[in-house]
Amino acid sequence: MKKEPFSPFDTVVIGSGAAGLTAALGLAAHQKVCVLQKESAQHGATPYAQGGIAAVLDSEDSTEKHVADTTQAGAFLCESEAVYFAASKGPDAVKWLIDLGVPFTRAGEQFHLTQEGGHSHRRIIHADDATGSAVHKVLLEKAQTHPNITLMQKCLAFDLEKDPNDPKRVVGVRVLNEVNQQVEVLLCHAVIIATGGASHVYQYSTNPGHATGDGMAIAAKAGCSLMNLEFNQFHPTTLFHQKARSYLLTEAIRGEGGVLKNIHGKRFMEGVHPQLELAPRDIVARAIHLEIKKTQHPCVYLDISHKDPKFVQKHFPTIYETLLNCDLDLTREAIPVVPAAHYTCGGIRVDLDGRTDLVNVYAIGEVACTGLHGANRMASNSLLECLVFAKAASEAILKSVPPDFGEICVQNEKQSDLQDEDLPFLNALKSRVQSVMWNEVGIVRNNAGLSLAVLALENELAAIADYHKHHIRSARSIEVENLSLVSLLMAKSAMERKESRGLHFNEDHPELGEVKFHSVVTLKGMRAEYDEVALKL
Ligand SMILES: Cc1cc2nc3c(=O)[nH]c(=O)nc-3n(C[C@H](O)[C@H](O)[C@H](O)COP(=O)(O)OP(=O)(O)OC[C@H]3O[C@@H](n4cnc5c(N)ncnc54)[C@H](O)[C@@H]3O)c2cc1C
Repeated sequence: MKKEPFSPFDTVVIGSGAAGLTAALGLAAHQKVCVLQKESAQHGATPYAQGGIAAVLDSEDSTEKHVADTTQAGAFLCESEAVYFAASKGPDAVKWLIDLGVPFTRAGEQFHLTQEGGHSHRRIIHADDATGSAVHKVLLEKAQTHPNITLMQKCLAFDLEKDPNDPKRVVGVRVLNEVNQQVEVLLCHAVIIATGGASHVYQYSTNPGHATGDGMAIAAKAGCSLMNLEFNQFHPTTLFHQKARSYLLTEAIRGEGGVLKNIHGKRFMEGVHPQLELAPRDIVARAIHLEIKKTQHPCVYLDISHKDPKFVQKHFPTIYETLLNCDLDLTREAIPVVPAAHYTCGGIRVDLDGRTDLVNVYAIGEVACTGLHGANRMASNSLLECLVFAKAASEAILKSVPPDFGEICVQNEKQSDLQDEDLPFLNALKSRVQSVMWNEVGIVRNNAGLSLAVLALENELAAIADYHKHHIRSARSIEVENLSLVSLLMAKSAMERKESRGLHFNEDHPELGEVKFHSVVTLKGMRAEYDEVALKL
């Protein structure tokens, strides 16, 4: 143990997606900032975003309309202040990206605006069908060349270091640095958690592998509350194939006449919704889920083979090619599809500045719950949320008075063995958690399934905690623990909601409840039960 002066960083940002990089760039004019990435710079959901960013950019559109659409999509559970905040600050956030050089698609003199489900107006600015990648490239380039920003790759944050004199403050972030094989404490005056969502708690997900809910687990262990964790968005049609698992098959295929069939060739959306295959996403996802259960077949089929092959190839060239690589021909056969977890609406509870329950800890982007999305996210509001709340958090940090921590005692540990010799055990545990979440806390839930899930997830959490008593932590084992903990908190939150609203559908409570509420869960509330297992790290 040695006493150390403060590290060169004022703020540590955990995560380098749209949210983390935006905040870092906002801070770096005045501060030294460290940005952590658990893998490489490309690791995260942001580069995957296809559609675009929602903002009021047309003179016929208005903040009020954006607010109304978001609120309706969110099943009236949105926090009105957060919705107004995001909608009203959207145009400036987009202008900032344009000024930075993001090459948004143009239509003549203007930027092209597209429309997506739930929006009553054209308000999605985009860079072809690869908006996230275009935005991320520019933000990353700016961050990489900024003298006040240090980007650290292969640094997995797993805990916050509390101020010994004030339990409401932290003095740094504990990271597993795979480059120098050390567990280090990065001291700082403020922490921003921007680690993205937790869609990998489910067996099938459109997200890259980073989405294991790390930030939510870190915050929960440090005493922060998490909100609305039961609301997980599923995309209805992703490819069910080993070579390209959960590859997104855009809604436009159904828009151009594609139909959904079960294994027996029956169109099952008939009688489910008047709009058939073009019903709202949560309804289509639910119908597919029920069909899979009913037929006991692992997928359903998306069929557009009745259309002219030239039309199909012209409209969906990338998808057509990707499917050919999987030996599937979109023009000639029905394609196996399943819904997949896409977006985590709940997360660390924050205010309009992104502030958590801890004084100098902020959370932004998909990891946070601002109240913007309520019970269901409207398309393209998530990148907007990343930008607007990252800016607010960086401004709040710059306004705050940095705490005087004096000298701090830290202990860096040599991480001698990063080999995962127990990979089969960890993989099996992760698969069991994902399977419980998929089957019992997925698209359709019921009381008995949720109770079973809580019991099963408690056991899995106990198993990984026990593993950590006897083994050196590795990036993989920490992720598995995080995933197990967040899954359990999600199952608990789902049990609390005895109604069906937005993305949460419980067969035993199929109606909307009379009272609107946010579910809030803390580890402290469960401390008696989980002290032994969850708080061990
Ligand atoms: C296929 C797909 C399409 C989408 N399309 C759209 C769209 O069109 N419009 C829209 O608005 N949204 C879209 N979304 C959602 C949107 O992309 C995400 O919500 C958003 O990019 C999240 O950004 P973020 O900065 O919060 O997190 P991410 O971009 O996910 O970044 C998280 C970062 O945290 C790091 N990290 C995670 N854990 C740790 C840890 N323990 N230690 C250190 N670093 C860590 C990761 O390495 C990564 O750098 C889409 C998502 C997907 C998957």
